[in-house]
Amino acid sequence: MATMIIEGERVGASSGETYQVMNPATGEVVEQVPNGGPDDVDRAARAAAKAQQAWAKLAPAERARILHKAADHMLGQAEEIAPVLTAEQGKTILESRIEARRFGENIAWFADLADKIHGEYVSLPDTTTYGLVLRKPIGVTGAIVPWNFPLTLAANKVAPAIAAGNTVVLKPSSTTPLATLRCIESLIEGGLPEGVVNVVLGPGTGDAIVTHPLIRKVALTGSTPTGKKVMAAAAPYLKKVVLELGGSDPCIVLDDADVDEAAKAISVGRFFNCGQACLAIKRLYVQEGVFDALLDRLIERARKLKPGDGMNRDSRMGPMHTAGQRAEVEAQVQNALDRGASLVFGGGRPEGAEYESGNFINPAILVDVPEDSRMVAEEVFGPALPVMRIKDLDEGLVRANASPFGLGSSIWTSSMKAAHRAVQELEAGYTWVNALQIAHDELPFGGTKESGFGKEHGLEAFYQYTEQKSVVYGLV
Ligand code: NAD
Repeated sequence: MATMIIEGERVGASSGETYQVMNPATGEVVEQVPNGGPDDVDRAARAAAKAQQAWAKLAPAERARILHKAADHMLGQAEEIAPVLTAEQGKTILESRIEARRFGENIAWFADLADKIHGEYVSLPDTTTYGLVLRKPIGVTGAIVPWNFPLTLAANKVAPAIAAGNTVVLKPSSTTPLATLRCIESLIEGGLPEGVVNVVLGPGTGDAIVTHPLIRKVALTGSTPTGKKVMAAAAPYLKKVVLELGGSDPCIVLDDADVDEAAKAISVGRFFNCGQACLAIKRLYVQEGVFDALLDRLIERARKLKPGDGMNRDSRMGPMHTAGQRAEVEAQVQNALDRGASLVFGGGRPEGAEYESGNFINPAILVDVPEDSRMVAEEVFGPALPVMRIKDLDEGLVRANASPFGLGSSIWTSSMKAAHRAVQELEAGYTWVNALQIAHDELPFGGTKESGFGKEHGLEAFYQYTEQKSVVYGLV
C-alpha cells in the first residue's frame, strides 16, 4: 500500500481510511492509498512550517546544490517512474517518459535560480537614510494538482517554491498520486531534507490545504469551477492564490500558412495526452482557401492515432482517464452533431476485446460546428477537434476571442502583419506564431479571463514564491 509523506515519515491516513487507484486502460486496481483528511493536512502544514525555518536559512548556493543533486537522482529513476504514471493515468509510455523527465528538469531549472535572488537599493529623499527592497520566501505553500499531467504540474509548483526557500504541502489528484509519490521519494533519497515537501492524499485534503492558516499561498491547477471555489475559500485568510484553470485555445490558420507544418502542430496540439491537456488546440478556425487541404492532412494524421493500453508499443493514444470524462466528451460531440455539425473523421469507441475494460475513445474531427454548441462554448477535455471555416483574419480574431477562456492561442500565417495583429489582439496568456503549442521553462505561463491568473515557469514564477520587504536604514 502507498503512504503519504509527512515530516519524513511514511504514514497512512489518521482516519485509517483508504481508497483504490484504478488503471484507466484495464479497469484493474493499481494500488491502495490512504484517504487523508484535515488532520493529516494539519500535520503536514506543521511539519512544513518547522522545516521551512532551516530550509530558508541555508546558504542559497547550498540550496541550489542540494536541489541539483536531488534532481539528478530523480532523473536517474525516470525510466522506472514512467510505467507507474501510465498505469494510473493511462497515457502512453512515451508520454510518461517525457513527463517524468520534465519533473526532474523543472527542479533543476529552478535550482539554478536559488542563489540568484536579487533585491534593490533605493535612494531616499534625504542623505541620512537609504532604502533596500528584499525578497523573502513566503513560508509554507500549498500545491494542488489535477490528473492530466500529474508530474509536470506538481513540478511547476514545487520547483520554484522550494528553490526560493519555501516548503510545500502537495496534494496530487486523488486518481493519480503514485508517480508523484515516487518523484518526491526520489528527491528525498537524493538529499532533499525531509519536511521540505510533504505529500497528502485524498479528495478531502484540497479544501483543508486552502483553509489551513499556516499555509500562506495556494497554487492550484484545475478546472475553472474549482478555481472559483478555491479563491472564495482562500479569501477569509487573505491567502495568495495562483489559479491555472481551464482553457479552450483557438488556433487560426490563414490561406498563406505552411499547411503541412500547421497540420503537424495542430494534431499534436489537440491529440497529445488523449486530448486531456489545458494547453490544447480546442477550436480551429481555418480560412477558406486552405480549409480542405488542412482537413485532409489532419485526417491523415488522426488515422495514425491508434488507441490502446499505454504500455503497448503500438498504442499512439491511451484511454481517457475516467469513464465520466469520456462520457462528457461524447456528450459534447453529440451536442454538436445534434446542432448540425458533421463528423468527418473518427468518433465513437474502438471495438474489440482489448478495449472492453478501459475508457477508450476514438479521435474525432468535426466541421461546421455551430458557435453555440458545447464544443465551442465549453472546454473539450478529450480528443475531439471542431474545425470552423473563416473568411479572413478579422472573423478569426472575433470568433477566437468569443470565449470566457484565455489560456493559449496560436496562428499560422506567413504574413508578418497578420501575425502582429494576432499577437496584439488574441485574448490569451500565450500566443504561438507558426510554432508548436508547448510551454517553455523560460517563458511565464498562465491564463487570463476565466483561465485564471498568476504565472508558472520562468523568472516570474520564481519571484511569485517570494515576498518583497522594504527596509529603511538610518545613518545615525
Ligand atoms: P479539478 O478542478 O476537478 O481538480 C484539480 C485538483 O483540485 C484536484 O487535486 C482536486 O482534488 C482538487 N480540488 C477539487 N475541488 C477542490 C476544492 N474545492 N478545494 C481544493 N481543492 C480542490 O480538475 P481536474 O478534473 O483534476 O483537471 C482538469 C482541469 O484542469 C481542466 O479544466 C484543465 O483545463 C485544468 N488544467 C489547467 C491547466 C493550466 O495550467 N491552466 C493545466 C492542466 C489542467
